[in-house]
Amino acid sequence: VLRTAGLTKSFRGLVALREHAIELREGEILGVIGPNGSGKSTFFNLITGFSRPDSGAIEFRGRSIVGVGTARIVGLGIARTFQGSRLFGSLSVAENILAAAQLRHPVGPVAAVLRGPRYRAHAREAETIAARLLNLMGLASQADRPAVDLPYGDQRRLEIARALATEPTLLLLDEPAAGLNSGETRALTALIRRIRDLHGVTVVVVEHDMDLIMNLCERIQVLATGEVICVGSPEAVRSHPRVREAYLGHA
Ligand code: ATP
Ligand code: MG
Repeated sequence: VLRTAGLTKSFRGLVALREHAIELREGEILGVIGPNGSGKSTFFNLITGFSRPDSGAIEFRGRSIVGVGTARIVGLGIARTFQGSRLFGSLSVAENILAAAQLRHPVGPVAAVLRGPRYRAHAREAETIAARLLNLMGLASQADRPAVDLPYGDQRRLEIARALATEPTLLLLDEPAAGLNSGETRALTALIRRIRDLHGVTVVVVEHDMDLIMNLCERIQVLATGEVICVGSPEAVRSHPRVREAYLGHA
C-alpha cells in the first residue's frame, strides 16, 4: 500500500526523520511510537504533503507521491487526523463531515456547480456518507450541534469521522487517544478496529498510550530522535532491549 525508503527531513540542521523505511501491508494496523520529538508527526506530514522530504522515496500503490500537494493526496485516498483539533468549530457535526466528504470529489468553481447535476449527485453521495459515518461513530444524536459544543471525546471521534468522509484507503491517526480516559481509550481501540474491518482501510496510529498501541496494532515501529529503532509485533517490540531502555523504561 505505502512504502517509504531513505526518507529524511531536517529543520534548520535538526534531523527530524532520518532514513525512515516502512512497507505497509494492505489492511494492517501499524502503530508508531516514540518519545516527544522523535519524528512521528513529521512522518505523517511528509506522507500527506504538508512538508517535503529532503531525500528518500514515498510510494503509494506503487506510485511516487513525493511533491504531491495535500489536496491531491486526499483525492488519492490518504486521510489523516492532526494532533491538535482542526475541526470547523462553528459548523455543525454533520457539516464538518459533509465538508470533508466533498473534498474527495472536488466539484469545481462554485457558480458552475450550484446548478450542475454533477454537483447534486456528489452532494447526495456526501450526505449518504455523512449519515453512515455519524452512526458508525456514535455521533448521530449530535449531528446538528456546533462541533465546538461537543464533549472532548466526541470531538476526537468527529476528527476521525471527518477523515473517513474522504473515503480513504489509508488512514493516519495522530494521537487519537490523547486526553481520553482509559474507558474512552478502550472504546476508541475497538472503534478503530471496527473501522478497519468495515472499511478495509490500512491504518497507521501514532500514539503515546501504550494500552491502545499494544491492544490494537499488529505491528509497531519505534522511533527515537528521528531514527527507526525497530519494527515488529507488540511482543517483539516490548522485549526489544533498545526500546525498553529508550522508551518503555519509564513506562
Ligand atoms: P510529539 O510526540 O511531541 O508529537 P513527534 O514525534 O510527533 O513528537 P515531530 O513533531 O515529528 O515529533 O518533531 C520531530 C522534531 O522535528 C522535533 O524536534 C520538532 O521540534 C522538529 N520539527 C517538527 N516540525 C518542525 C517545523 N515545522 N519546523 C521546525 N522544526 C520542526
Ligand atoms: Mg507529534
